[in-house]
Amino acid sequence: MGAIYQNAARYAKSRALFAAAREVIPSGVNSTARATWSGWDPHPLFVEGGDGSHLRDVDGNDYIDYLLGLGPMILGHRPPKVTDAVVKAIREQGTVFALPAAAEIGLTRSMIAAVPSLEQVRLCNTGTEAVLYAVRLARAFTGRNKIIRFEGMYHGFSDGVYWSKHPGLNVAGSDRAPVAVPQGPGLPSGIDSSLIILPWNDTALLREVIERQGHEIAAVLTEPVMCNTGCILPEPGYLEAMREITRKHGVLLIFDEVITGFRLALGGAQAHYGVTPDLSTFAKGLGGGFPVAAMGGRKDIMALVADGTVSMAGTYAANVIAVTAAIAALQELSAPGMFERLYKVSDRLRLGLERVFDEARIATRVVGVGPVFQVWFSDHDIRNYRDAARHANHELFRLWWEGMLDRGVLFHPGAYENLFVSFAHSDDDVDRTLAAARETARAIR
Ligand code: PLP
Repeated sequence: MGAIYQNAARYAKSRALFAAAREVIPSGVNSTARATWSGWDPHPLFVEGGDGSHLRDVDGNDYIDYLLGLGPMILGHRPPKVTDAVVKAIREQGTVFALPAAAEIGLTRSMIAAVPSLEQVRLCNTGTEAVLYAVRLARAFTGRNKIIRFEGMYHGFSDGVYWSKHPGLNVAGSDRAPVAVPQGPGLPSGIDSSLIILPWNDTALLREVIERQGHEIAAVLTEPVMCNTGCILPEPGYLEAMREITRKHGVLLIFDEVITGFRLALGGAQAHYGVTPDLSTFAKGLGGGFPVAAMGGRKDIMALVADGTVSMAGTYAANVIAVTAAIAALQELSAPGMFERLYKVSDRLRLGLERVFDEARIATRVVGVGPVFQVWFSDHDIRNYRDAARHANHELFRLWWEGMLDRGVLFHPGAYENLFVSFAHSDDDVDRTLAAARETARAIR
């Protein structure tokens, strides 16, 4: 065993750069997900570049990349058509005009054609913004204040939703009545009274709470697949029940498809599961690696944006880079047979990993759908965040991660993150990943 701790010479340049970065950048990185306490301990890898399914660090190590920028690189790194389109647009048009452009209409039409719930769409820059807008719009439309959200999910870092992501169970209330736990100091007090935190995959409890308090609940905000506590699938019928209960009580259903959108299917998780929300948010998969996000849904709700009642602003919203990248990425994703191929490669990997752990007699659950999944080191079924907090073995996950990194396979070191597969991953990548997994499993069992 080795990896980042024992095998220091292999990561010497990353280590030196991290030391330099910490002098000027708090924690040495520009996002919490890259910080030492998020798993990149003792330091993150510093990247040199990527190509297709591969990433190269500054020490010259090459990895098969399942981190994929935390999801956006669904077409692989430097997808030629998207990159070329963006470079051409920058050269020939420019970047930011604060005026609308014709290209926005075509892009929006393509999104509406692809995603079942979309009747109208507004573009923005990040998933955080998209969710912020969806929640604001839901409150304005319903005239109600409270939002139901689920423990273990992440909906961006805005004050209104940056609660109860992975709270300590000692401060998070009971299993049936969790309390809202802020992500940290600095969130305004009082917001917690506008949130109802529930465990996921519990239809009876959701029904009970909405029947009792529906008149004050604006929306249920959920990831359709919980991708921010490892990967947890909705139990059969759960999303359908959510739809039925919310509709009955005039509560809006918001699918946060920032991870699942344009990844589980061209139409996102809502197309995959056949459940249509009122509003949805999109980001990562949409732009082929360029920053672009979107919020959209029912036209009667979006009417409040249309008439200016609810404001969605943004200097960079629908900038040339974002729109051009999204158009090119959607064109790629829409090609016939794309998702079938993606699922074939992804399923081979997921099922192959299951076999590897079975053969090594290591209790795991390899949970996911198509090109997003995670390995739970646990002999329990994980249905919600508290199951994960109680039953997932993080130490074993760490050994697994280190073993794979040493063998040239990269994914996020956090057990609550995911492995992402791209259209650029090949059967050869999968074979090599499974060979590395076999060796690693033998070494850690
Ligand atoms: N919603 C979900 C489900 C996410 O996973 C994320 C980011 O990982 C966000 C929202 C926030 O998106 P962004 O990082 O683009 O602000």
